[in-house]
Amino acid sequence: RSAFDRIKRLDGQLCAILATDEDQSLRLARKADARLRAGERSPVLGLPIVIKDNLNWTGLPVSCGSRIQEGYRAPYNATVVERLIAAGAVPLAKANMDEFAMGSSGEYSAFKPTRNPWDTSLVPGGSSSGSVVAVSAGYAPFSLGSDTGGSVRLPAGFCGVTALRPTYGALSRYGLTAMASSLDQVGPIATTAADIALALQVMAGRDPMDSTSTDLPRQDGLVPLRPRNLKGLRIGLPTEYFADGLESGSRSLLEAALQVFADQGAEIRNVSLPHTRYAIDTYYLLCTSEVSSNLSRFDGVRYGHRAGAPSLPDMIAETRDQGLGPEVKRRILLGTFCLSKGYYDAFYQKAMKARTLIARDFERAFESVDILATPVSPGPAFPFGAKTNDPLAMYLADVFTVTAPLAGLPCLSMPAGLCGGLPVGIQLIGPAFSDVMLLETAHAFQ
Ligand code: GLN
Repeated sequence: RSAFDRIKRLDGQLCAILATDEDQSLRLARKADARLRAGERSPVLGLPIVIKDNLNWTGLPVSCGSRIQEGYRAPYNATVVERLIAAGAVPLAKANMDEFAMGSSGEYSAFKPTRNPWDTSLVPGGSSSGSVVAVSAGYAPFSLGSDTGGSVRLPAGFCGVTALRPTYGALSRYGLTAMASSLDQVGPIATTAADIALALQVMAGRDPMDSTSTDLPRQDGLVPLRPRNLKGLRIGLPTEYFADGLESGSRSLLEAALQVFADQGAEIRNVSLPHTRYAIDTYYLLCTSEVSSNLSRFDGVRYGHRAGAPSLPDMIAETRDQGLGPEVKRRILLGTFCLSKGYYDAFYQKAMKARTLIARDFERAFESVDILATPVSPGPAFPFGAKTNDPLAMYLADVFTVTAPLAGLPCLSMPAGLCGGLPVGIQLIGPAFSDVMLLETAHAFQ
């Protein structure tokens, strides 16, 4: 109830929440209370959580931040939601987001832009804008987002919280509305790595409903999470990430954060990831291609909104025209173009080759270091409207977050400190399936 009071008090301004079902939440809370009284213990028993509105929670809308889903309600729980509820977590609300998870600022929600609790004239970052703000503003200690190219890490950096993008496959995508399937991952968000570990413990593990899901090594090391001994840990700084694009205030903060690691005995080295310069182009070619295919299911027949029209093709065209926002349309058109005959080799296939080269850069780097440390974004949160008229400028906000997903690697964003009163994040990237080690390293820093 106190969580709902807080949401009612603050969300008129912050706009992080799209839907609630207080009766269901209170019912689940009472159930958790009874289990607790009966002596049961689980890492998340009674924990209030907030869920991004592209993840299914039975009976509630799953709008994906889009008008095309109007009236549609989730018929089943996403596996991650199901596992959290089974372990006693209490979902409170569905969180606002950029439409279909396309965006970096939270401004592309079809309903209302989410605001940054640190300064409401600034964006919170996206696309998991509502999920991150829910934790940052204290609605709930834990939330779920999704991360295709940075959607939990970028807003976590802008709002001063911690967010993990697990190794591709470590969390089931069953019940997560697909944007770009080869890149999408569910991303847990909390104030600290130790809190993320509690929920990851409950959610991780193979799911027969998602054939790309797999078990997470060392899952039993998540609770309690132990801080990693940093003595001798080799931390690599990719020189390409500390180049001109990085604002000087953020750079000094990152240097101070790295000094904290060094003071505990970590060894800091420079490494090179030479194909980083192709990352944005590669990501946006592959992402839009997959988007054009995945979003063809929103046709007015199966879900939500349906336009009235004299024929089936007209109905589909009308529904999509009315229901989808400009950024989604842009990506469907770009992706359709990339995949079309004659352009497939020039764009899609070339991007797949670049993806392999980017992944090889990481493999090579991890021959000489244990972990990589980078900025999360070129600078802190920006004002509303600063990038909405220039899609390319918006895409460039993702320059440090799209590389690890292209290689399927786990990465996290955590607060490094404040610059001009605003949070700045630091990103850690690890080898595949080093998720627990990554959290232990963050825990030692926090
Ligand atoms: N900002 C990136 C994009 O718009 C990443 C989004 C995401 O991770 N879902 O594609």
